[in-house]
Amino acid sequence: MAVVGLGPAGEQWLTPEARQVLAEATDLVGYGPYVDRVPQRPGQIRHRTDNRVEAERAAHALSLAREGRRVAVVSSGDPGVFAMASAVLEAAEDFPGVPVRIVPGLTAAHAVASRAGAPLGHDYCVVSLSDLLKPWEVVADRLRAAARADLVLAIYNPASRSRTWQVGAARDLVMEHRDPATPVVIGRDVGGPQETITVTTLGELDPSQVDMRCLLIIGSSTTRATDGGTVYTPRRYPA
Ligand code: SAH
Repeated sequence: MAVVGLGPAGEQWLTPEARQVLAEATDLVGYGPYVDRVPQRPGQIRHRTDNRVEAERAAHALSLAREGRRVAVVSSGDPGVFAMASAVLEAAEDFPGVPVRIVPGLTAAHAVASRAGAPLGHDYCVVSLSDLLKPWEVVADRLRAAARADLVLAIYNPASRSRTWQVGAARDLVMEHRDPATPVVIGRDVGGPQETITVTTLGELDPSQVDMRCLLIIGSSTTRATDGGTVYTPRRYPA
């Protein structure tokens, strides 16, 4: 079976490899809105699931594959970045005869970065702000460490309907080590019909502008925002 990345949105970011694997699948498994992004094919069975039951979804997909179905589990972006690939590999330990192939996709951080310029042009790290799967203390420690190390931060899952205080808390933690004038990019629904890109600063980052469809990029000490609104991080780091 395959775990397939659909890219952050849109046909243009679906790789030819992913397109081919999806076309050959007998069964698609995934969170409903992601399955809906794949064009319907006659005879192909679509198993739309809830977003919360990753382990069950993975085991279901693996049991279909064990019966001989050609299964594609779909994920947004890259399936290895805060998505289904790890859940499937974990469940696959109980399905030793079922080979799992990971088909990569464009991840949201790279799509957002490209719209803003090149903010990830030097060293950066990737952090999920969700505390559903790890304690907030771990998130806070990592944010502090990244800020201290002067890494650019790409932040996934910054907020949800019920999770709203983390963006403000993250901003305050990073600002312990970083200038309030540091450029910040908020990319929302990138590649989709409601895409917006906002360039602001760490000091002016307004958490009410950020929801679950956003990805944040917080610059390092060398990240620049030009007068034209382009954001980039130079390749060279001062000695
Ligand atoms: N596997 C996905 C990430 C899943 S986590 C990937 O590689 O992109 C879900 C988070 O991804 C969202 O909360 C948001 O932070 C980010 N994201 C996904 N699609 C996005 C898009 N089109 N625009 C902006 N951020 C997006």
